[in-house]
Amino acid sequence: MIIRKSPAELEKMRKAGLLVFQILNTLKGMVKEGVTTWDLEVTAEKMMKDAGARPAFKGYYTPAAGTRFPYCLCTSVNDVVVHGMPSAKQVLKPGDIVSIDTGVQLSGYYGDSAVTVPVGEVNEQVRKLLKITEESLEMAIEQVRAGNRLFDISGTVERHVKENGFSIVREFVGHGIGASMHEEPQVPNYIDRRNENPRLKEGMVLAIEPMVNAGRSETKVLGDRWTAVTKDGSYAAHFEHCVAVTSNGPWVLTRP
Ligand code: MG
Ligand code: MG
Repeated sequence: MIIRKSPAELEKMRKAGLLVFQILNTLKGMVKEGVTTWDLEVTAEKMMKDAGARPAFKGYYTPAAGTRFPYCLCTSVNDVVVHGMPSAKQVLKPGDIVSIDTGVQLSGYYGDSAVTVPVGEVNEQVRKLLKITEESLEMAIEQVRAGNRLFDISGTVERHVKENGFSIVREFVGHGIGASMHEEPQVPNYIDRRNENPRLKEGMVLAIEPMVNAGRSETKVLGDRWTAVTKDGSYAAHFEHCVAVTSNGPWVLTRP
């Protein structure tokens, strides 16, 4: 069942979303040569605490991993697609890209957003990977309108990514979000006609999160059972926003 949110609930989700935005904006500003992904984690945790929010990822359990995720952030560097773990040993260097994905729970409601940031100068293909992935998210956001269907979102991402020679990750997808971090429906970045294709209605909130590989689409999960990398070692990009369906069109909750 897809849970639709009242205007009052959307206002709470807005507050959670803006906190996530502020955190990601601060972390983006920190990313440079010599910074570790642990530095990002420490800053994020402090900002959440100061705001009276709960880190949504810390302690999050999935049966697939069989453990609780230990951190506030997923920091996914270069060939890591998603769910990378912050580490004091991971020093960012020029040419790297780091996806920072985070979520909070504030007054009972969740916000979830991700951005991929270059460290210093990155090569032209990597610049294009970031640009196309972010564009695919922006184009998908435009589809978040009452009367459209889920496949309008999925197909928009898929088309833009494929037209530009990159590949779509299939093992991980976006999701509904609200008083739980992951709600129905799943929001794949590709069309699979076997999946349901619900019509979008006012009050639905979707976390849209294209995960795009420079090379082939296949991923594998490392021995820690969380970190997902591209099988071929190619770089991967990830951007995410939470978007509400409103009578005025798409409302991106995770940016001002
Ligand atoms: Mg998400
Ligand atoms: Mg996320």
